[in-house]
Amino acid sequence: MQWETVIGLEIHVQLATKTKIFSGASTAFGAAPNTQACAVDLGLPGVLPVVNEEAVNMAIRFGLGIDAEINQVNVFERKNYFYPDLPKGYQTTQLEKPIVGAGHVDITLADGSTKTIRIHHAHLEEDAGKSLHEDFHGMSGIDLNRAGTPLIEIVTEPDIRSAEEAVAFAKKLHAIVTTLGICDGDMSQGSVRFDVNVSVRPKGQEAFGTRTETKNLNSFKFMEAAILKEVARQIDLIEDGGQIIQETRLYNGDTGEARSMRSKEEANDYRYFPCPDLLPVMINDERLAKLKADMPEMPDAKKSRLIAQFGLSEYDAEILSADQATAAYFEAVVTACDDAKLSANWIMGELSRSLNQSNIVIADSPVTATMLGGLINRIKDNTISGKIAKEVFEVLWQGECNSADEVIDKKGLKQVTDTGTIEAMIDSVLMANAQQVENYRAAEPEKRGKMMGFFVGQCMKASGGKANPGMVNQILKQKLDG
Ligand code: ADP
Ligand code: MG
Repeated sequence: MQWETVIGLEIHVQLATKTKIFSGASTAFGAAPNTQACAVDLGLPGVLPVVNEEAVNMAIRFGLGIDAEINQVNVFERKNYFYPDLPKGYQTTQLEKPIVGAGHVDITLADGSTKTIRIHHAHLEEDAGKSLHEDFHGMSGIDLNRAGTPLIEIVTEPDIRSAEEAVAFAKKLHAIVTTLGICDGDMSQGSVRFDVNVSVRPKGQEAFGTRTETKNLNSFKFMEAAILKEVARQIDLIEDGGQIIQETRLYNGDTGEARSMRSKEEANDYRYFPCPDLLPVMINDERLAKLKADMPEMPDAKKSRLIAQFGLSEYDAEILSADQATAAYFEAVVTACDDAKLSANWIMGELSRSLNQSNIVIADSPVTATMLGGLINRIKDNTISGKIAKEVFEVLWQGECNSADEVIDKKGLKQVTDTGTIEAMIDSVLMANAQQVENYRAAEPEKRGKMMGFFVGQCMKASGGKANPGMVNQILKQKLDG
């Protein structure tokens, strides 16, 4: 039996406002526990919430960024449930009238194909606090700093058909919210969290199978692993004659283990009702027009422009447009060296390898765009070879020098292009390898190309990698072929 995977995602995106969604308390990360929850966040009697204008603007910007209908009248509701990290006894969220209606996000897959994932809606809501289970010897601690932090929850249609598509979607969504500047995108701090709804069905069948929901995945890698594991579990279970039950599951990224958290029967009745403390949010045409006029270049548009303006491949453009900082870095390098292909290669090769290894973001790169552009200029004008350039890059990365020119100067890496010097070097190499020279001259012409490599290697070695490879090749050939 052939199975097809069906996935729908619900994504919580933390909005980058300075203060909470209904109060003036700070949203800064990392403060001492319970120092940033005020009376409003705690829902103490007599206090009244006030909607954060900036949070509403950010939600609107998101809607505009995915070509969605903006609901100019939208309503906050109370979702009632009891949990220690929810001191109010309800979460203020949106249900019937969310701020963002249907939209779409387009993804590109590894094989170059594209696909549209429909967004059902996105709504504004507040985050809850955090339960802390370590350090309290059999008790739980509660940190309410996060209570009242503004979120948008984005809900997709069940349009995703594989873990690969889910990851491509998640990365694209991350690119969209960071490009809009409405989220810092820091997944390790929980700024973007994914809930994955997964079901399987026999290939060709129209009706969806029963789904499970795995909550709170905070990395692309964990999300992919959780989906693959859940799909395998469901197929195994069905093929063994079992049935999927609709349930909420947890996946532990550190151990790779998954388990059931609660089944649908145990689900709460949330008794939603419109929040009596908050008026409907009214967005007038003027405000909407102003926000529209202020939209940045979105990732898809940026990608198209990079292809048109710099002749980049689809693949290079997709990677370089994935986040604002990388795209800005790329454009700055091109400005400095006027060579888009070399700039793209260095950013996606040497630079991104070094950033990954040191676990730092491109904005904090010790090799600035100006420095990398300067380095590429020295490759272009033959001052150094591509190989020596990697050495120069390493020195720049270590912060020992401020420019490629300084490194080349200090370390004496300038390429040797003087004909006399190169000739002398070649002569001594040929002298030291008289037997190989004889073999070369005796060989069939079509075998000589390969044998040439040996002499080139010896000459480059003799020059410490500094001889101009093109000149070495040319002069060697003249001397060997007589
Ligand atoms: P509920 O009303 O229970 O919240 P929704 O219809 O709102 O359910 O769907 C919640 C999420 O689950 C959405 O992202 C949706 O795309 C996804 N989903 C719904 N049905 C399935 C299914 N059979 N398989 C996978 N995902 C699904
Ligand atoms: Mg729902």
